Amino acid sequence: MTGWPAADDGRPPRILLLGGTAEADAIARDLSGRPGIAALISLAGRTAEPRPQALPTRVGGFGGADGLAAFLAAERIDLLVDATHPFAARISANAAAAAAATGVPLFRLARPAWQAEPGDRWTVVGDNAAAVAALGAAPRRVFLTIGRLGLADFAAAPQHHYLVRSIDPPEGGVPLPDHRLLLARGPFDAGAEAALIAAERIDVLVTKNSGGPLTYGKIVAARRLGLPVVLVAPPPPAGGRLFTTTAGLLAAVLAAVPAG
Ligand code: NAP
Repeated sequence: MTGWPAADDGRPPRILLLGGTAEADAIARDLSGRPGIAALISLAGRTAEPRPQALPTRVGGFGGADGLAAFLAAERIDLLVDATHPFAARISANAAAAAAATGVPLFRLARPAWQAEPGDRWTVVGDNAAAVAALGAAPRRVFLTIGRLGLADFAAAPQHHYLVRSIDPPEGGVPLPDHRLLLARGPFDAGAEAALIAAERIDVLVTKNSGGPLTYGKIVAARRLGLPVVLVAPPPPAGGRLFTTTAGLLAAVLAAVPAG
């Protein structure tokens, strides 16, 4: 945590930013330019080479909601900002519980989910098991972009061919008998996504409704190509004061924690 000041008196206000998203990176860049605020970003440590951060950084879990509450108290955090991914449900639940336990205010950046538009052929499901069921029994060529950790759920449907895309290779390999693995980090534009879908003769896209512009290209490409999409709906926000834009959240942060 190089550059993160010790928790003494007479200190600037202290913010813990839970990150792992492009929005969190942007919030970090903004806060790093404000000398009257001490902010620390926390990453889970999932990706082998995380993007460089503008703020002092800590990496790894806190040890559940209790561990996070203990960290908030030990580091005398004045404000907790949860800018984790909409599908990172556990850390957000922990943030809500730890904020409630300690009385530290919690601001949550709740990125709006994508909304269906004319031409979209979406089947919206609640989880990966329902996505597997929605694929049906007949073998299909599936473009699967649901993150490394959910791949094992699709082993229940080994009859399909899966084009799997993730940032890092899954530990222990891809647990699907018929697949091709593409390692890539977004953003992905719609033209390139359409070309990939055509080249791989994809029948159906399976993805999470993560919202935001960085991975929206595949949704646009599917719309253009008339491709069916099985879309996993995000979990409801766990708690805290909700913001839909980084600008709105940053304005509220500066109002709550004057930069001096
Ligand atoms: P998760 O299931 O909600 O969290 C699992 C555990 O990982 C948490 O209980 C916590 O461990 C630790 N953790 C998660 N985010 C953390 C953070 N920012 N700082 C410190 N510890 C963290 O999370 P996930 O879905 O695996 O996502 C992990 C990270 O990847 C998050 O930072 C998220 O923003 C990012 N991400 C996730 C997705 C996705 O689709 N899920 C997509 C893009 C980026 P302890 O309980 O020990 O504290």
